Amino acid sequence: MTARLIDGNALAREVRAEVAGRTAALRTRGVNPHLAIVLVGDNPASQVYVRHKMADSEATGLAATLHRLPSDTPEPALLGLIARLNADPTVHGVLVQLPLPDGLDARAVISAIDPRKDVDGFHVANAGALATGLPGFRPCTPWGCLRMLDAIGLALRGLQAVVIGRSNIVGKPMALMLLERHATVTICHSATADLAALTRQADVLVAAVGRRHLVTADMVKPGAVVIDVGMNRVPDGEPGAGRLCGDVDFEAVRDVAGWITPVPGGVGPMTRAMLLANTIEAAERQTA
Ligand code: NAD
Repeated sequence: MTARLIDGNALAREVRAEVAGRTAALRTRGVNPHLAIVLVGDNPASQVYVRHKMADSEATGLAATLHRLPSDTPEPALLGLIARLNADPTVHGVLVQLPLPDGLDARAVISAIDPRKDVDGFHVANAGALATGLPGFRPCTPWGCLRMLDAIGLALRGLQAVVIGRSNIVGKPMALMLLERHATVTICHSATADLAALTRQADVLVAAVGRRHLVTADMVKPGAVVIDVGMNRVPDGEPGAGRLCGDVDFEAVRDVAGWITPVPGGVGPMTRAMLLANTIEAAERQTA
């Protein structure tokens, strides 16, 4: 079997078109949907991510403002900026790019964002809403993965789902979203004994670890849906050195799986698109 590809680029285009339509509709009511992005310090990867977020916003008609602060910004100054953004009715989404420089407590900073503007979905109020089945903002990466599963028409009820990784931003919320859809969910992590025995039972397998070739063909149930969240680089000295790759041995696993997401062109573009979806949602809720 050769797996069918779940095309994250194509699906992200659909999401962006929806967001653009909703943005235009809000504009006709005099609302200018607006995302504020806070970047502290000069982490090169963060600068790239923030550039993408600004460009994506502008391309879909959302206003985006970047607030750049030096890496030695004292925490009270950062919290003060967040308080001003929270109080500003023209700002609908507030995002603080992580990681923060040493000396700043990410938990305290994320907790300071008004949950109604927390478009990353990282605030404990939004994490708790997901855990208890209440509406709220869902973290963009697993939210995008769920959208991919919906796009292929997969009925999750009763399926075995295995999530590898238990981070607060990917693995845990992914597991909760699958549970909410009535899948039977297993969460695997660095202390899991016999990972392969568990993954081989998965109808849906989500890999969110950050380790190239973690998932090999013998770990995948024939016909399974495989979602590869991992972002790694092919090491020097190997063909394609420096290129982006996931956690899944794509070439081998595509012969076993039923559906698979590529890297690049899979979860990454969906993560970016779901931030826009959360931002327009925030603007709609705040101006309803
Ligand atoms: P993390 O480091 O916070 O979590 C990694 C998880 O993997 C941990 O829960 C750990 O227990 C588990 N793990 C480590 N080694 C393992 C092993 N040998 N077997 C099973 N589990 C193991 O990372 P994260 O922030 O959740 O990100 C995971 C990956 O997803 C990274 O590669 C990251 O770059 C990528 N990512 C991609 C996107 C995207 O948009 N495509 C977004 C977020 C994260």
